Amino acid sequence: MKSLIDKLYKTTALTADEYKELLDNRNPELSEYLFEKAREVRIENYGYDVYIRGLIEFTNYCKNDCYYCGIRRSNKNAERYRLTKDQILECCSMGYDLGFRTFVLQGGEDGYFTDEKIVDIVSSIKRKYPDCAVTLSIGERSYESYKAFFDAGADRYLLRHETANAEHYGKLHPKSMSLENRKQCLYYLKDIGYQVGCGFMVGSPFQTTDCLVEDLLFINELNPHMVGIGPYIPHHDTPFAGEKAGTLELTLFLLGIIRLMLPQVLLPATTALGTIHPKGRELGILAGANVVMPNLSPKSVRNKYLLYDNKICTGDEAAECLRCLQKRIESIGYRISASRGDHKSIALKQ
Ligand code: SAH
Repeated sequence: MKSLIDKLYKTTALTADEYKELLDNRNPELSEYLFEKAREVRIENYGYDVYIRGLIEFTNYCKNDCYYCGIRRSNKNAERYRLTKDQILECCSMGYDLGFRTFVLQGGEDGYFTDEKIVDIVSSIKRKYPDCAVTLSIGERSYESYKAFFDAGADRYLLRHETANAEHYGKLHPKSMSLENRKQCLYYLKDIGYQVGCGFMVGSPFQTTDCLVEDLLFINELNPHMVGIGPYIPHHDTPFAGEKAGTLELTLFLLGIIRLMLPQVLLPATTALGTIHPKGRELGILAGANVVMPNLSPKSVRNKYLLYDNKICTGDEAAECLRCLQKRIESIGYRISASRGDHKSIALKQ
């Protein structure tokens, strides 16, 4: 199996059968070998820097009804909130003072935030903080909407594909949603010129090794700037409440593979990874990740953006979160970078 890792390291791609063989034959020794290679590639490209993104969860209203997600439309127990433009700018101001140079605006698919409102928010942030990147993560919209946000100054867009297998996609989402549209959106975003992130949940219900192989092949085809993966974690008020969570072990293994596939990719050690294991994010970085996304949302709404149960850091101030993460990152020999943390291909152009 080590020869497959060597091949992936040298060529950045394997065949479907080879990915399957690698995933099916995981063991602790093989994982350690993979992580060593992944760290080598990561350090070659980004040194020991870890990029930080200030996450602003600005609305938990959502018109969608994804079976896994705690803020799905049908969850009547979710306490809904929206931040005002001023509250969002307040989060940015606090974040800027703490050293953040990327703000990620994430939310449910909330019709209240029309294109006009998003354009206004993005352009206000960019006017005030021209040295910062703005990332949007607000789901599926039209080509024209994405273009308008980009023209207003949005730099990056996160839209996880969730699963690259259409049948699996159908088991996680209601009929009104399709993998085809999700993929179309990702290609639109790339076309327009965003730094684009796709990704998926590890261990989501009905996921098979073949699904994961398709995810890897899709990531290879899309060639995104960022890939967000984290374990699936059940939420008690969803149809998948009784399902099992994804594992730390498989998530780390996939992080390692993705680092070797896309040597320059921006790869977060996610909050979900930190939720299923106390050292999840540190282990993620040691498996090849190079980004963390601490929460900048106001403390008053933190415990309302609950996609899954037991989410960490919901009671902390942003400054506390950052201090805690800084310590964790330094404890494993890495350091937080004060830069925007663009993808290497973009950073070179500027
Ligand atoms: N509405 C936006 C943002 C979605 S929330 C969009 O459609 O892109 C961001 C990500 O959280 C989702 O893409 C999904 O992969 C993840 N997520 C949702 N529910 C989850 C759960 N129960 N466990 C782990 N991750 C989850």
